[in-house]
Amino acid sequence: MDRPVNTRRVWEDTPVALSSAHLLSLTIASDEWRRTAACRDTDPDLFFPVGTTGPAIEQIENAKAVCRQCEAQTDCLEFAIATNQDSGIWGGTSEEERRQLRKAQAARQRRTA
Ligand code: SF4
Repeated sequence: MDRPVNTRRVWEDTPVALSSAHLLSLTIASDEWRRTAACRDTDPDLFFPVGTTGPAIEQIENAKAVCRQCEAQTDCLEFAIATNQDSGIWGGTSEEERRQLRKAQAARQRRTA
């Protein structure tokens, strides 16, 4: 799993909680939404809990609380789904929640094909 990096050092004008893989993918995608990201000044580790039990439960909820205040939540989630971000909290969703969303999206596409 990619670990978050301090994006303030790497990408001064758009500091968002991102892993190195995220940075790579974002260089080829539109990133305007990140300018209003509520996590710009948040520790990236908050968005990448280790596991889903114990202390990770509170960490996930704290990350989601930041996302709920975020103007970019919809764009962030769309980006995460479109680029198959399978680690961390994106757009207010956990890894498992995004897996479910992708499954539902794939099922809808099969039905309409
Ligand atoms: S929705 Fe959450 S992870 Fe995405 S940019 Fe906003 S605060 Fe950051």
